[in-house]
Amino acid sequence: MFLKGQDRMNIAYIYLQIYRLFDKITPIKADCGRLCGARCCKGDDSGMYLFPGEEKVIELLNPPWATLEKSEFTYEYLDKKKNVPILFCDGKCDRYQRPLACRIFPLTPYINSDGNTEIIIDPRAKSLCPLAKELKKDEFDYKFSKNVKKAFNLLSKNKEIKVFLKEYSKYIDEYRNFYED
Ligand code: SF4
Ligand code: SF4
Repeated sequence: MFLKGQDRMNIAYIYLQIYRLFDKITPIKADCGRLCGARCCKGDDSGMYLFPGEEKVIELLNPPWATLEKSEFTYEYLDKKKNVPILFCDGKCDRYQRPLACRIFPLTPYINSDGNTEIIIDPRAKSLCPLAKELKKDEFDYKFSKNVKKAFNLLSKNKEIKVFLKEYSKYIDEYRNFYED
């Protein structure tokens, strides 16, 4: 398991490597931000959840446009309740420092009933993002979908991230039930 025995700084390094998968790859070949006026970057108070250990990247980079807080969303790992860190921005960022949630939007990981990690269109995006509303999963740029899958195939080998993803999938289910037709 690639994260086993690694210290927290190594987790930051792994996230930085994963970030690179999305430096040049975007959901579709066109700049979708131009098409929709970058609706997902309005700097509102919704924030982006970080994945376990990702806060170390933010602490390392210390981007001036980011505010990091503990959210009320929790998961349990090794008998400890953990509050998921959430990042807020003011609608502008250095794209090379943006968190994973922004890089993969509007796709998201989801652990299905068989316990496998799959990639789905984020149901939270359906009220906001025209791509999430209009496209089928296989209509996203192939490399983008492939890199999202690759990122979470790697990350979900880490026990804590897997535990988090199970809890996160329950949270995603609440939106799925609402938006699924
Ligand atoms: S809301 Fe959707 S279409 Fe608009 S910039 Fe964000 S990902 Fe692209
Ligand atoms: S961090 Fe950057 S990409 Fe993410 S919502 Fe803020 S401005 Fe958009």
